[in-house]
Amino acid sequence: MTYPTAVLKKAAEQLKKRQEENKKITREKKETLYAAIPELAQLNLEISAKMKQTLNLEQDVRVSKQMLSDLVKKREKLLLEHGYSPDYLADYYECPVCKDEGFVDGKPCRCYQKLMLLEACKMSNLGERIEKENFHTYSPELHKEHKSMEGFIHKAKKYCEKDPSVKQNLLFTGPTGTGKTFLSSCIAKEFLDSGHFVLYYTATKLFNIIDEAKFHREDTEAVELAEMLTECDLLIVDDLGTEYAFLYPQSRLFDILDTRTVQGKRTVISTNMDLSELNQKYSPRIVSRILGNYEIFVFQGKDLRYQ
Ligand SMILES: [Zn+2]
Repeated sequence: MTYPTAVLKKAAEQLKKRQEENKKITREKKETLYAAIPELAQLNLEISAKMKQTLNLEQDVRVSKQMLSDLVKKREKLLLEHGYSPDYLADYYECPVCKDEGFVDGKPCRCYQKLMLLEACKMSNLGERIEKENFHTYSPELHKEHKSMEGFIHKAKKYCEKDPSVKQNLLFTGPTGTGKTFLSSCIAKEFLDSGHFVLYYTATKLFNIIDEAKFHREDTEAVELAEMLTECDLLIVDDLGTEYAFLYPQSRLFDILDTRTVQGKRTVISTNMDLSELNQKYSPRIVSRILGNYEIFVFQGKDLRYQ
């Protein structure tokens, strides 16, 4: 999917803020300079007037251009005399490529794509974590208690490359502190960095969202959020099994998971429960439905958080 409206809207707001701030910087820079060198202000007025004349073809173009170039040279010299670089008066832009317009040839500039990515990260609920927990920060030393981690990292990389040797969905099971969340962060970062839209929720939060959308249809934001659970490129459900599972949100969640699988979208679930506990909490029918479409990673070892 492309980013949802909420992300695009926020990125556009950020771009506008950037444009306004940088216009202010340019304006203040000029005002300070004109106050210090009044001759410069006068010269600038002359340059603007001459530009207008040149554009309106009010006199011989060649003469007009020559005069304009002389004036510009005079301005550069004046700036140099006062210890400024000749281009000091140029408008200030954060991105010289698009001049903070956000688009180049009708396509979003890299700087704008970056803003969208930032907003998508914020919205994914993973913002800060993925900076600390990603494939680049993985160290076998840190995870030496987790025998299988090395293999999981290898497989997770393949998963991100959509290698057919790894199933479309993953289920991480194992005790707390054995690296499940770390691995889902690694995967999330890869997806986000390649421009995909990712949502991360604990199961409890997810069930709340599903409830909100059903019982508060007037709350368009809640409804849109619930729709995104189906539509996002990667959905990460953390701590499945810890929620109070009422019948409606439970069956709705499993419908969402089914739809995602059918539509080729990817889902990563992590849970502290083992398979028999899952079978007790949810119906065996539901569990077997999940297991059929999910590749299972069994995490083992000591709880890393207490070391
Ligand atoms: Zn740009």
